[in-house]
Amino acid sequence: MTRRETGAAGATGAGERRKAAAPNGIGAAARRSLLRWFAVAQRDLPWRRPERANDTYAVWVSEVMLQQTRVAAAEAYYLRFLARYPRLADLARAKEAEVLALWSGLGYYRRPRQMLRAARAVLAAGGRELPEGFNELLALPGFGRYTAGAVLSIARQQRHPAVDGNIRRVLSRLAGRALTNAEAEAANRAWLDEHRPGDSNQALMELGATVCAPRAPRCGECPIRRYCRDRGRAGAALTARPRRAPERRQESYWLAIHGGRVRLRRRPATAAIMPGLWELPQRRAAVSGERRLGQVRHAITYRQIAASVYAPPDGLPPPAGQWRSKAECAALALTGLTKKILRRFAAGEQA
Ligand code: SF4
Repeated sequence: MTRRETGAAGATGAGERRKAAAPNGIGAAARRSLLRWFAVAQRDLPWRRPERANDTYAVWVSEVMLQQTRVAAAEAYYLRFLARYPRLADLARAKEAEVLALWSGLGYYRRPRQMLRAARAVLAAGGRELPEGFNELLALPGFGRYTAGAVLSIARQQRHPAVDGNIRRVLSRLAGRALTNAEAEAANRAWLDEHRPGDSNQALMELGATVCAPRAPRCGECPIRRYCRDRGRAGAALTARPRRAPERRQESYWLAIHGGRVRLRRRPATAAIMPGLWELPQRRAAVSGERRLGQVRHAITYRQIAASVYAPPDGLPPPAGQWRSKAECAALALTGLTKKILRRFAAGEQA
């Protein structure tokens, strides 16, 4: 399950807090039930460990990684990222190519680039940590209302909603109708526990990720089903967004290996997707003597790629690019597809 910016939050005053009610008029009892459930049912995830849960930088890294990325895929990246850049200042001093290499395979490379810009902006302004004001965070590259609300509610227990796809779905089902952005934000604000707003947000996210699933909610296991107007009746219809039709592509690449090194080329800095990342040279035409190694399937958002991989014949000049050793490849920002192809066809051949 992924998280996504949907527009969200702002702090509320004490009076508004007291009057606030959840989407269908329920409030404290449902909140308590949900928090009790979260206390025992939450998954053991690395960003929830006590040493990281109150660290704005560590929470930020997890929130950015989880946008458009499944939890299972993000966990290993998160641990590697924090091991390499344990503090915001470490990230700010890193080279972009190194950060992209570490991110390689997670996709959406705009995210690490913006993180780097944000970290550098904080240091350039004389800071060592992320600012703790909602509007100050919004002023940093890559911060939307969701990310700012999530970081400040989880790490600093500030009362900010953080409406991601999971929270929007749960709140819409509780209300029995699809909520607009503004309604979801107001409903989320009403749900926030005065003392544990971070847990309130995480509990709603967790419920959406593990029980109130998009297509088949498991209402029998839901701790707040008695407060829910929908209870699974509408299924996916209530909150489903129109899906973009998949675009199927056939692509073709050269896997040229010589002396234990592989031929790679860098995508142009101006490329619309994955600018500056490294990939195998594309095979634009058949060549006499080539050898087909096989095919790799890869998905990037709505694009479903079937990539055929060929070994070029001996004796021809190598495709455009540069020779790179295995160690060099490990330090490069490779496209996810290139990583897959190298794992499948070049393991053992690269020095
Ligand atoms: S009762 Fe079902 S539809 Fe309602 S919040 Fe719980 S899991 Fe979602």
